[in-house]
Amino acid sequence: MITFRCSCERKEHSAPIESYEISSGAIYKIPEILKNYNRIYMVADENTYRVAGEKVEEILRECGKLFSKCVLKGECVLPNAETLGNILMYAHDISAKSDIFAYSPMPDFILAVGSGTVNDSCRLASYRLGLPYGIVGTAPSMDGYASAGSPFLHDGTKTTIQGTTPKYIIADLDIMKDAPYDMMLAGIGDMFGKYTGILDWELARDYSGEYFCDKIAKDVIDATNKCLENGYKLTERDPECVKNVMEGLLVTGLGMAYTGNSRPASGAEHIVAHAWELFDVERGNHPHLHGLEVCEATRLIAIMYKMLLEETEDAHLKELIEKYIPYFDAVEEFCIKMKMPPTVTDRETILAGIHRALPMRDRYTILFYLRDRGMFEDYAQRATDKLLEALKA
Ligand SMILES: [Zn+2]
Ligand SMILES: [Zn+2]
Repeated sequence: MITFRCSCERKEHSAPIESYEISSGAIYKIPEILKNYNRIYMVADENTYRVAGEKVEEILRECGKLFSKCVLKGECVLPNAETLGNILMYAHDISAKSDIFAYSPMPDFILAVGSGTVNDSCRLASYRLGLPYGIVGTAPSMDGYASAGSPFLHDGTKTTIQGTTPKYIIADLDIMKDAPYDMMLAGIGDMFGKYTGILDWELARDYSGEYFCDKIAKDVIDATNKCLENGYKLTERDPECVKNVMEGLLVTGLGMAYTGNSRPASGAEHIVAHAWELFDVERGNHPHLHGLEVCEATRLIAIMYKMLLEETEDAHLKELIEKYIPYFDAVEEFCIKMKMPPTVTDRETILAGIHRALPMRDRYTILFYLRDRGMFEDYAQRATDKLLEALKA
């Protein structure tokens, strides 16, 4: 458990995480980090097994802690009943001779090796089996490492269900720096969403009386600034830059655990991104990487805020937004220079996503601010056109 005193109204924050390790060669510390566990169940998919799982398995074998393993086959886009079923079944070596009268021990720890689906599935398996779990990350691609909720494919759509927060997060920079390039771009794109997310949180504090923590918000913005400053070095797979992104994703993940909600990580940009993703899931298309979707939605929400800055008479609102304009401009420049891959490019889907996002979550963001003033439709239309222009640049 990580705990610290804070000057905000909560006075203290805590997160149910024991420790995290972000360093070069981090996987060699696994025996020490997991010293209290002796029957470790390792879960990977074919890709993550190749890039990290094989080595982690060897390390666990050498220290006598490997109990069982599961390498998920094929491409799993989102966790579903099948992936979860596989993880439950392979918790025991199924080729072992059965002895129905013998006491058969369970693993005492689940170690996920991967980023998206593997981590999300193990989070669910951990919750269902009542076993602690940890994660060896393979790509700095999304902010869900420290999250307690997990996406799940159910009835043809995606839903979020309760899982467990990992006890340990291990990120080996030697592995992460070789992650697919678009996953790294997605990671930094997810971080850019913190600018609009935190501004939405400030807006909710001042226009909807919501709880706000200065320290957590500042930590997230500082971490995002670091990503932006060094982000151009992602093309060289600079380990320091990869570290910034991974730390940023972790800081936001911890922020969510500290506040007990996702305010430190997400605002309107995440809700719109989620709406776009749902269209793909429901149409049976392969959804885009979360962070890329968030990045595009961040550009859209930043456009809305810029329009509001120009058109509002509210001095306080102007002051709030002005602080974020340099960030918004820097993100836009980054996206153009780094050729950030667009996700949704047709006017109809972009707009349908904004419409779908509005009632999707009872969370005060710029979308609620605009709706309450009868400005939603006009802003949705004009911001969509401006985004389409920006995507052409
Ligand atoms: Zn606080
Ligand atoms: Zn995210």
